[in-house]
Amino acid sequence: MNISYIEHIGIAVKDLNKAIEYYEQVLGLKCYAIEEVKDQKVKTAFFQVGQTKIELLESTADEGPVARFIEKKGEGIHHMAFAVKDINGALSEAEKKGVQLIDKQPRNGAEGLNIAFLHPKSTFGVLTEFCEHPEK
Ligand code: ZN
Repeated sequence: MNISYIEHIGIAVKDLNKAIEYYEQVLGLKCYAIEEVKDQKVKTAFFQVGQTKIELLESTADEGPVARFIEKKGEGIHHMAFAVKDINGALSEAEKKGVQLIDKQPRNGAEGLNIAFLHPKSTFGVLTEFCEHPEK
């Protein structure tokens, strides 16, 4: 598997606008994009920090995965995403090595990336995402 860097950290928040205000006013970062990902029932806000992004996630539905996460665990770090060169290869390697996959096939994520999740049961409690930039 060829992981090149941490693509982003996903953070579950109840109120996207309030969280954006904190990241901008306190941390001095700039939100460069807000995007709704219908597939995952979330609205996302992105901040670039070096090569890595912070992805804030607000649920757009009561039964969405981020809403359920906040209900169970409260706001906070939701997942970590690794940039990989070959997402299909990375998924099959993880599966071969006994990791439970949430997505056997990559799907479309925010920013036009191909994404797939590994189950936190197999990753020491960290919901882990692979991201592949289609143009690279
Ligand atoms: Zn993500």
